[in-house]
Amino acid sequence: MSAPHPTNRPSNGPQDAPPPFLVGLGYDLHRLEPLAPQGPGRPLVLGSVRLDHDRGPVAHSDGDALLHAVTDALLGAIAAPDIGQLFPDTDPKHDAQDSRVFLAEALRLVHAAGYRPTNLDATVILERPKLSPHKPAIRRALADLLGLPEPRVNIKGKTHEGVDAVGEGRAVEVHAVVLLQHTPHK
Ligand code: MG
Repeated sequence: MSAPHPTNRPSNGPQDAPPPFLVGLGYDLHRLEPLAPQGPGRPLVLGSVRLDHDRGPVAHSDGDALLHAVTDALLGAIAAPDIGQLFPDTDPKHDAQDSRVFLAEALRLVHAAGYRPTNLDATVILERPKLSPHKPAIRRALADLLGLPEPRVNIKGKTHEGVDAVGEGRAVEVHAVVLLQHTPHK
């Protein structure tokens, strides 16, 4: 008889201890369409900061792709259900929902699991408008929402070099990584 696979053995040792760190990856994309009344786009909001633009996300909520990616990174780190499972876009309650509500709920679950964010790194891929003038405000807002000092929050802006839907300004895409640290109960 072969020995049980090491990951299948009954665990009663130090491997039961919560890991000191957990990492989470988040991704989101929203189509960008002309704003009402010309189209179905909502005002463009990234990291809870409003950006002036003639196009905006098509979304059930406010369509904040950056907050959605960060929310999924937080949920992913603790292996919780993802943002679409927790806040289904079929629920009329979330129509035009401020996405800070989703982030706050993810953070509540992270704290309940005994963790807190250590840092966030995110990349926003957006052809227009330029992200750089808004980066300081977005960084401040995210630091505030996550309860982190600003040096622990990084937002990078990139274009898609004119290629594909994102490069043609028809979508915004975000990648986010968060690190969580276990916080023993005092
Ligand atoms: Mg989304």
